[in-house]
Amino acid sequence: MENPQNCYDVVVIGAGPAGAVASSMLSTKGYRVLVLEKQHFPRFSIGESLLPQCMEILESARMLKAVVEAGFQYKNGAAFATKDQYNFFDFREKFSAGWGTTYQVQRAQFDKVLADCAAEHGAEIRYGHGVVSYKDVGEHVQLNVVAENEAYQVEAKFILDASGFGRVLPKLLELEKESTLSPRVSLFTHIEDGIDHPEYDRNKILISVCPENNQIWYWLIPFSNGRASIGVILPREVYDKNQIDNKELLRQYIAKTTMMNECLKDAKFDTDVRKLDGYSCDVTSLYGDKFALLGNAGEFLDPVFSSGVTIALKSADLATKVLDKQLKGIAVDWEIEYAQPLKQGVETFKVFVEGWYDGSLQDVIFAEDKSMKIKEMISSVLAGYAWDTKNPYVKDPNRLKVLTELCRS
Ligand SMILES: Cc1cc2nc3c(=O)[nH]c(=O)nc-3n(C[C@H](O)[C@H](O)[C@H](O)COP(=O)(O)OP(=O)(O)OC[C@H]3O[C@@H](n4cnc5c(N)ncnc54)[C@H](O)[C@@H]3O)c2cc1C
Repeated sequence: MENPQNCYDVVVIGAGPAGAVASSMLSTKGYRVLVLEKQHFPRFSIGESLLPQCMEILESARMLKAVVEAGFQYKNGAAFATKDQYNFFDFREKFSAGWGTTYQVQRAQFDKVLADCAAEHGAEIRYGHGVVSYKDVGEHVQLNVVAENEAYQVEAKFILDASGFGRVLPKLLELEKESTLSPRVSLFTHIEDGIDHPEYDRNKILISVCPENNQIWYWLIPFSNGRASIGVILPREVYDKNQIDNKELLRQYIAKTTMMNECLKDAKFDTDVRKLDGYSCDVTSLYGDKFALLGNAGEFLDPVFSSGVTIALKSADLATKVLDKQLKGIAVDWEIEYAQPLKQGVETFKVFVEGWYDGSLQDVIFAEDKSMKIKEMISSVLAGYAWDTKNPYVKDPNRLKVLTELCRS
């Protein structure tokens, strides 16, 4: 490379949660890290309800103080509602050790807080710079980058792809694989919520199931400033049958709910409705000779248990530990040290997601007579502790089927 200034230890593609945490952790260890981010921050992103497991990783990335000081909405659990049933999990009552509380965050602000921390810890971040190609040139990888007024090349010993749904390396290296989860459509927006419902708990995400069809569900994620994120998930074939505009469709679906509709009786729908179609995705491999895929650039399941940011942070934590060893010349095995441990937690969430859509987990969630011990084990997974193999529902997630039979009988 002609200009050694453009040669880095690591280039991270994307400055979302996975990219910010990975670049922060590597910069702190003294590596020369460049983050290439296509957009300018702050920018909108979906994925606003965090899980307590995130807090531990934010702490080890030295970002927790900045997140706490940002004044986001406190969160201590998840509430679930159907037409006539309501139940909740308090994440402080859980099987696994660790944080029991977290935040619900406007991602424009949250992602900027994390990226600013990464920059403070030494990462160089170039906003408005998109990666368009990848070439292995022996010792290094060469990336072509396109910015507003320039196009140039950078080189690095290793690339971490944290490009989210941009899925830069899965597309360039043909690693994309169809998810086994059914295609679904999401419609969502931010509102002035005006909630004064006496039974509504702002410290919990509210997940409501459509009374007419348990494949359709909604989220209500309150923020600390009187606003909230709301959204609906629909099977693609249900969405495709509709002829009306997305804002009206979202309002019509919310009107079918009981508690959520009552909560939002005074809400102001003042923001455009966005749509994401077919969000579940997977890859054939999470790593290669000189790259690894983090967060949504690898596998994304489903929003129902708010696992996305937690998986993104966990992937950054695991990958940077392996990469640190590799850059020090220590032999590593990305399959055993990265892909398998990451997938272990993802698989736990996946069994829960599948159980949600086949109705079995909904039966467990709404069952009133669960033992406290079992409730704590389920609560642990819902709080993001999907890697704690001491939890029998993590060690063998299929236990959920037995529990469903018990709840149903
Ligand atoms: C409808 C819906 C609701 C969700 N709700 C939740 C929730 O409540 N809680 C939760 O935890 N998760 C939720 N998620 C998941 C969450 O959005 C993601 O899992 C999370 O944002 C992934 O983080 P990331 O860092 O991998 O990617 P992202 O946050 O998507 O960041 C990727 C970054 O890469 C940049 N980029 C893309 N292409 C390029 C390029 N070519 N060059 C340079 N930069 C590039 C993008 O601009 C972006 O800033 C939800 C997802 C969906 C679809």
